[in-house]
Amino acid sequence: MNDAERLSAALTEIEDQYLWDADSALDQSIAIEEQALVLGDERLVTRARLCQANMLMRKGEVAAAARRIWKIHQWATDHTDNIVLARTHLVWANIHRHLGDASQSLEHSVLAVELLDDAATPHMHVWHRAKLADALGAAGSMDAARLRYAQAEELAAELGLPRLLMGMLNNYAYTEYAAGENGRAQAVARRLQQVAERHGFELDPAVLDTIGAIEIENGNYLAAERTLREAVRRHHRGDYEDADALAEFMLTLARAQRFLRATDRAQVSLDASRTLCVERGLGDVLVRVHQEQSELHAARGEFAEAFAVHKIFFAAHHALHSSQREAQARTRQAMFETTEARQEAARFREQARRDPLTGLRNRRYLDEQLPDLVEAGEELTVAIVDLDHFKRINDQLSHDIGDQVLVLVAKLLETELAAVSPDGFVARMGGEEFLMVLPGMDVHEATTQLDSIRRAVSTYAWDELTRGLPVTVSIGVAGLHENPNVSQAGLLSTADRNLYVAKHAGRDRVISGAPRDARHRSYRDGASAA
Ligand code: GH3
Ligand code: MG
Ligand code: MG
Repeated sequence: MNDAERLSAALTEIEDQYLWDADSALDQSIAIEEQALVLGDERLVTRARLCQANMLMRKGEVAAAARRIWKIHQWATDHTDNIVLARTHLVWANIHRHLGDASQSLEHSVLAVELLDDAATPHMHVWHRAKLADALGAAGSMDAARLRYAQAEELAAELGLPRLLMGMLNNYAYTEYAAGENGRAQAVARRLQQVAERHGFELDPAVLDTIGAIEIENGNYLAAERTLREAVRRHHRGDYEDADALAEFMLTLARAQRFLRATDRAQVSLDASRTLCVERGLGDVLVRVHQEQSELHAARGEFAEAFAVHKIFFAAHHALHSSQREAQARTRQAMFETTEARQEAARFREQARRDPLTGLRNRRYLDEQLPDLVEAGEELTVAIVDLDHFKRINDQLSHDIGDQVLVLVAKLLETELAAVSPDGFVARMGGEEFLMVLPGMDVHEATTQLDSIRRAVSTYAWDELTRGLPVTVSIGVAGLHENPNVSQAGLLSTADRNLYVAKHAGRDRVISGAPRDARHRSYRDGASAA
């Protein structure tokens, strides 16, 4: 295995991990990025950065994650890298879920599945479908969600990914639970337990917490207490990294015990949860601890205490929500600023490729577009258009009127060309010289069309602006297929030479013809042969 393969394998391990230890995965992906930079491997660098964005999101640094994701998305788009794109959209979906935007989250989840192809890993095939189901469920489309969960479940079984199967069943059970479908939630939870038994896996405490909550909703309080005690026991055994989760488990346990009317046991569990919340700064769990405490007082008939604690809960709930809203606003702001910057850059790119006076494409744009058109080898005609005796207009009228003539000629050329060649474009090459590009059109047809464009210029009602001075153009034409193996430079020099011939033949005409072809075709008011 060479260095790049080794780094790629290490990244896949992070990318396809079901449960993350965000801190260590973040450190690893930073280290991998540094090594990938040394190798100069852009794709590995991008993948490592995406892992970092994902981990930042998981650590709750949503704004930082959002800021990073744009560049990654741009790279993947530029390189049509569907795998990186699909993974990017999944992270994006999670960011929007954090922001409470179910419809945006759903949109990105759909893309994360649509972009899957043969190169996608088995993990992606299962997990991206499961996450789409999560997003559908969160958006209230339970039937569609169940369909996707079923697909993910089948795939996970087929591909032999039991850990992932358990992960998605856990989400499935939670989605049913959150939708108030407690019977269905229970059925999914049972399947989850069966998978665990069949494969000799122990359910992790977080899954037990979900199952316990479902049992409570179904009135199985004894079972719930047993499940939660087991979650706490497994947690204490220390196999699991997520230390904050214990506060959640103790809270769910307290609820089960309250329903069992074991108020003393419930108080002990709740106190344990509260202590953990305070120690670890878990504001969102603490709010629910207050709520549960109020319920517990009420269960003991201590209504005055219940009311007092309820007020504390209410204030804490508000404070939490406004701080969440502030965090969301910060993330939105970060996302907005990056979008702005991107649009600004796009506007700048566009501006840099236009001529400020006429608004036409400029030389830079031409130099970017023409090589590809020549390379493609399809029919292609180009024509250099030069104003006749333009110096006279400047000299006899004014430079300003000269400018106005240029702007009007540019407009005429553009509208006339659009009518005959929708894929074509006009660029201002400089001064009073323009280039017309007509893709997909052979030189004979193009010459006829260009002659009517020439006539549109000469017959335009110039009198008012130029006080009787005529405005005409000479046009030199060149076709790509006239001359085998012609280069872009060859094409332009043929057009230029034909323009020179047109000027010397008396101006206001179109000249086409291959190099060394003595019989140049001249078009002027239908006349031909020069
Ligand atoms: P010919 O028929 O041989 O092309 O004669 P011409 O006078 O058009 O050609 P020449 O190259 O001698 O002069 C071109 C003039 O175009 C000279 C220059 O001052 C003028 N010109 C170039 N750019 C602009 C511009 O942006 N605005 C104006 N008003 N004039 C310009
Ligand atoms: Mg000129
Ligand atoms: Mg000129």
